[in-house]
Amino acid sequence: MTETPATLSHFIHGKEVAGTSGRFGDVFNPATGQISGRLPLASPAEVTHAIDIAAEAFKAWAVVTPLHRARVMFKFKALLEQHADEIALAITREHGKVLSDARGEVTRGIEVVEFACGIPHLLKGEHSMNVGSGVDSYSEYSPLGVVAGITPFNFPCMVPMWMFPIAIVCGNTFILKPSERDPTPPMLLARLLTQAGLPDGVFNVVHGDKEAVDALLDDPRVQAVSFVGSTPIAEYIYARGSAAGKRVQALGGAKNHMVVMPDADLDQAANALLGAGYGSAGERCMAISVAVCVGDATADALIAKLKPMVENLRVGAGHAGDPDMGPLITRQHRDKVRGYVDLGVTEGAHLVVDGRDLKVPGCDEGFFLGGCLFDHVSADMRVYREEIFGPVLCVVRTKDFDEAVALVNAHEYGNGTAIFTRDGDAARQFAHGIQVGMVGINVPIPVPMAFHSFGGWKRSLFGPLHMHGPDGVRFYTRLKTITARWPTGIRAGAEFSMPTMK
Ligand code: NAD
Repeated sequence: MTETPATLSHFIHGKEVAGTSGRFGDVFNPATGQISGRLPLASPAEVTHAIDIAAEAFKAWAVVTPLHRARVMFKFKALLEQHADEIALAITREHGKVLSDARGEVTRGIEVVEFACGIPHLLKGEHSMNVGSGVDSYSEYSPLGVVAGITPFNFPCMVPMWMFPIAIVCGNTFILKPSERDPTPPMLLARLLTQAGLPDGVFNVVHGDKEAVDALLDDPRVQAVSFVGSTPIAEYIYARGSAAGKRVQALGGAKNHMVVMPDADLDQAANALLGAGYGSAGERCMAISVAVCVGDATADALIAKLKPMVENLRVGAGHAGDPDMGPLITRQHRDKVRGYVDLGVTEGAHLVVDGRDLKVPGCDEGFFLGGCLFDHVSADMRVYREEIFGPVLCVVRTKDFDEAVALVNAHEYGNGTAIFTRDGDAARQFAHGIQVGMVGINVPIPVPMAFHSFGGWKRSLFGPLHMHGPDGVRFYTRLKTITARWPTGIRAGAEFSMPTMK
């Protein structure tokens, strides 16, 4: 099957706009290995133009009532539901994940829109009557201005939707710089926002690479930057954006551990590990990449269950049939993940399932890798320390619960973690003592719902505020507190001492 590469556009001021930089990147269909699109990579001048447009649109959008903004979101939600299959197909074509997974991603994005529909309530400030005699005090949340989102390849629809629905309903205008790997889903979202009645210029998409990102980071009119991606880039974005005086939230990489206690239901734990370790080919920031088995008996029994399950994973093109997992995002990334498997063998880990030679019939050029399972992985190995971001699960054995907790806490990343146990005391100790931002108890992928906030600890998040939920509203607004007294209450004469309330 040969595809004709389509030339993509930016989306600025409610319209698709051709790139003018003369620089392009290739977009692939990872299942076939063929180029499916040519993506314009914006020059700094094109980014500046998008910021001009967003800054102009902000003047009117900032004063639109929250109720009106919510109504646009209600329409957007209805359109998303109508077009969910089309968006999911676009995700599968460019990302490679299986269709049901892509559909799930769209649903998780819609949930943030549902949360954003409640903005009139979420923007209510606080009010105190009579903080002093005849004096009232109240707070309000103002939009920031132009804000930007820079997003990764692995959730081309959901991660942008962690950001822009909330930013927009708070009264900001938004510039999205999506991943170069799968740029079509965000373009579909842009079109639907316009159909929903969002004024031109409130939401814009600029494609590009470091050049475009740096132009966003350096323009003083961009007030805040939300980033999701790998840790080295998150750290860079946080440093450069903060140095420029912007508000920044930068979510980075992960190495998520699932602790399996000796009393756990091992069938449940094995199923959880299979889905959380190999779903989306392991390319999820909340994927479980380390199973920490407490005791050798737990490890032996779990591996006996897992081995045939990993061997029998159905791997194929995401849009054909109903495979368990699809290809990896690029050939380079597939080779990098395969290199990690080679490295694990060299480092002395025991490769229980080797998916390196997997072939998918009819997809010879696709970027596939079979599921791989390592046992006897130790904390000093690079396959344990580094994020692999592929279908590779490492089993680490610990002698007891305390050693398992210490292992998780010593890791540089702290995005998600889980414990599988029937022991309420162990689960409680785990939940409160673990140095990780999102914790599951018999839940392998504890991604918070849209009305809670999403974020990790340690080197998985730079910045104080998590994404969506209450933190999202705080991130995209600034607080103002007003203290008011009306003339009847004013006493004559100047007061030179620090004002205090009587
Ligand atoms: P990435 O860091 O390579 O790219 C993310 C974004 O940064 C893209 O838009 C890219 O164009 C841009 N970028 C890349 N290099 C840049 C540079 N040198 N300067 C400026 N901008 C640059 O990440 P990715 O490969 O697209 O996504 C996978 C990573 O994202 C994994 O590490 C994964 O854990 C992480 N991730 C984290 C979360 C989370 O919530 N913590 C969620 C999803 C993905």
